[in-house]
Amino acid sequence: MNESDNILICQNLHKDFIDGKRIVKVLKGVNLTINRGERVAILGPSGSGKSTLLHLLGGLDRATQGEVILNHENLAQLTEKQRCALRNHALGFVYQFHHLLPEFSALENVAMPLLIRGEQSNVAKEKAREILIEVGLGERTSHTPGQLSGGERQRTAVARALVTNPLCILADEPTGNLDQHTAEHIYEVMLEINKRLNTSLLIVTHDVHLAKKMDRLLSLEDGILSEGK
Ligand code: ADP
Ligand code: MG
Repeated sequence: MNESDNILICQNLHKDFIDGKRIVKVLKGVNLTINRGERVAILGPSGSGKSTLLHLLGGLDRATQGEVILNHENLAQLTEKQRCALRNHALGFVYQFHHLLPEFSALENVAMPLLIRGEQSNVAKEKAREILIEVGLGERTSHTPGQLSGGERQRTAVARALVTNPLCILADEPTGNLDQHTAEHIYEVMLEINKRLNTSLLIVTHDVHLAKKMDRLLSLEDGILSEGK
């Protein structure tokens, strides 16, 4: 994997949605560069297009116009298969709702991205165990999501995003569902890992206090991304 500085770039990104007969312009020319190890927060009111932007950056949806360059590859120029492979190697996703598989243990959930990559089960489980210990869940590896608290579930989701040692974590309101104390803890976990592994963080939130823990604060308003709050 290329370790050079700009790991995620978007240029003049536009996204329109068709709503009945109306065209809704959600993103109107977003530019963003994220460097290796950088910690960036995006603030914006509900409906401002934050999730839409993360979907485009993660190659989960296509832009109406503009480019996304992930680890020096233009996402639009890849086949679906190549895009999936790049996403699996370069990115980790954390969502507001954990999206853990209810019938699997924390360990199995965290090992899943490695198994999808084709790693051997015992190797995948060992890596999953290490990262679960790192997020403070070493004693909870065999619990299913239903046996974990909200904060523990979200830490498991963070561990799952990190297990592949991605260049960048894209987190969409990762603590939107948690109380302030638990939310702070999740941020501390992510910041620790950012320091240790130099994983870039792009976190969408509407919590200004949490956003200020990042290096850079951006606001998404009226389809435009700008510096500061
Ligand atoms: P946020 O995450 O900031 O709350 P979203 O990115 O979810 O905002 O949505 C931004 C706008 O785009 C909203 O007005 C939403 O209704 C619209 N939108 C999002 N996804 C779709 C879609 N698939 N089809 C039509 N409109 C959509
Ligand atoms: Mg959203």
